[in-house]
Amino acid sequence: METARIVLKEGRERSLFYRHPWIFSGAIDTGKSELKVEDGALAGIYDHGGNFLARGYYNSKTNIAARVLSFEDVEIDAVFFERRFRQALELRRPYFENDETNAYRLVFAEGDMLPGLVVDKYCDRLVVQVHTAGMEKLMPIAVEAMVKVFAPELVYEKSNIPSRREEGLNPENIKVWHGIFGDDAGVVRILENGIEFDVDIVEGQKTGFFLDQRENRLESMPYFKGKKVLNLFCYTGGFSCYAAKAGAESITGVDASKEAIALCKKNVELNGYDAGHELKGAGRHEAVVADAFEYLEAAIARGVKYDVVVVDPPAFVKSKKDLDGALKAYARVNEFALKVLAEGGVLMTSSCSGHVTQDSFKQSIFQAALRSGDDLVVLKTLGQPVDHPNRIYFPEGSYLKFLILKKRVK
Ligand code: SAH
Repeated sequence: METARIVLKEGRERSLFYRHPWIFSGAIDTGKSELKVEDGALAGIYDHGGNFLARGYYNSKTNIAARVLSFEDVEIDAVFFERRFRQALELRRPYFENDETNAYRLVFAEGDMLPGLVVDKYCDRLVVQVHTAGMEKLMPIAVEAMVKVFAPELVYEKSNIPSRREEGLNPENIKVWHGIFGDDAGVVRILENGIEFDVDIVEGQKTGFFLDQRENRLESMPYFKGKKVLNLFCYTGGFSCYAAKAGAESITGVDASKEAIALCKKNVELNGYDAGHELKGAGRHEAVVADAFEYLEAAIARGVKYDVVVVDPPAFVKSKKDLDGALKAYARVNEFALKVLAEGGVLMTSSCSGHVTQDSFKQSIFQAALRSGDDLVVLKTLGQPVDHPNRIYFPEGSYLKFLILKKRVK
């Protein structure tokens, strides 16, 4: 495989000493570098004096011109991928090899030192997303190693990510790399903390399920028993099923996606017959296709109140320039949520936007509380689980925020 030689401008090697995996185009000394390669080609990265710094891949089209795969001078081959996958397993195994959970993220891009690659495990099936041209080129050897280390029945690539276009890639690449995609391969029944879910890996959003909320869903469980729960942005019923298992009095799920709501109903039913907590009865679970903002406005007008409100919206910010608008949207949706929350009730609120810090997210909840006139107490400050590794050297990889708050009685 042809290889680029990237020589950095003097002083620009510092971020690599700090083990940060991104090289911006402005850091490259184009005069000293050899960049006449195809986009996505492997690259050796050197400081101004020609000393080796890292191995990665290069793309002339993107602002992040190179991403590091290794700070060691190793071949990027199937053996390299095997080592990375074993490292990924070793990190997760102590927490996830059990009878309660068989779905988790096996590879989280930079968090596992494999930029551009996401692998989610749903039982014996792997769903892969490729974000960069560099990783796309490496897929044949990556899959070879994946099959060896993880021994899955199916490796299904579902790369339908608009940002692939900026990499010069087709925005959509759907492909079976390993195994046979049988008639029943599209929907997988998984177990998460002992709770069953059907996951649609073909038609569902992202790879099919929002695995990153697994621990937050578990943390939410003690607050649901006997309560009237409103689950906003419920998708296929993640939090609703935990509420069902915990014995909530009633659960209302709201999501804009018709397909998500259909599966949400099925999933809650699947978990709704735990002894003593029959949720199948009239009106105990309802799932509504609606815009969450509009639903809340109507609920406020009707004066309806809930004991627990879950707010788990999609990333409102796609880039830094949307940040202000996103913070306003978080403040608004949470203000509305507080208005339908009973006194003494619990608000569980989340942000998965990488550009929003924990502090600015808290600030938007502060604004929401100020406007709704409530006194809020933080019960828990949570984040992302270890299968979405948050490398200390890579703050950009920390994206999930989850707060559990209590509305103090007046
Ligand atoms: N809480 C879910 C994950 C939520 S993902 C879980 O635990 O699995 C975000 C969801 O918000 C998606 O299902 C998407 O369909 C939905 N969504 C996006 N915009 C929305 C809107 N304006 N109103 C309601 N739902 C919306």
